[in-house]
Amino acid sequence: MPTASIGTTERPKDIQAVQSLFPLPIAPNVYHCGYHSERSYGATSYFIQHPDGNILVDSPRFAPPLVKQLEAMGGVKYLYLTHRDDVADHDRFHDHFGCDRILHKADLSSNISSVEHPLEGKDPINLFSDVKIIPVPGHSPGHTVLLYRNEFLFAGDHLAWSARLNRLTAFRDYCWYSWSAQIESMKRLLAYDFSWVLPGHGRRYHTPQIQMKQALQDCIKWMEQNV
Ligand SMILES: [Zn+2]
Repeated sequence: MPTASIGTTERPKDIQAVQSLFPLPIAPNVYHCGYHSERSYGATSYFIQHPDGNILVDSPRFAPPLVKQLEAMGGVKYLYLTHRDDVADHDRFHDHFGCDRILHKADLSSNISSVEHPLEGKDPINLFSDVKIIPVPGHSPGHTVLLYRNEFLFAGDHLAWSARLNRLTAFRDYCWYSWSAQIESMKRLLAYDFSWVLPGHGRRYHTPQIQMKQALQDCIKWMEQNV
């Protein structure tokens, strides 16, 4: 036994046990990363374990225990960034995993001035057959959301569940670009099926697709009343 391990208490093991919880499974192949970064305003990041290549959704902190777990889960092929606010340690993840970064051109900024896969325009893009990226300008000009398996919507700062209001909501006070554009983007989401909303901030929400549509319609109605 190495000397360093003699006389240690249970404590380091407890820390290791907690660290090994992350990424934390939410559903099959979908994980919550933990390790929120202040540089991403504390936003939640997620991980999709995908046979065609794993996807990290928004940037967590580049924390060694998390990086180790991600390595054990097959690494990262794409670092998908919903928008310019939640990019945090994108460069370190890129350097370590050699992952391609995906961000809409309209959200390139001083924090992230170039990416391997810049997106353009408003048309949805199929990354894989079951992974679609949908531009939803509003919170920022180049905000996009990612739809996985017509089930999981990774919503960034576009849409979230509010526990206080008990409904789906958008962040009126944190709309940096255009509220009316955000309403139009929200309406375009009605054309898609999903049963989960996994946001950057706020609570996640899971409900049958039919109820999700109704919840989205209620959110749009509220947005239109709060212009
Ligand atoms: Zn944001």
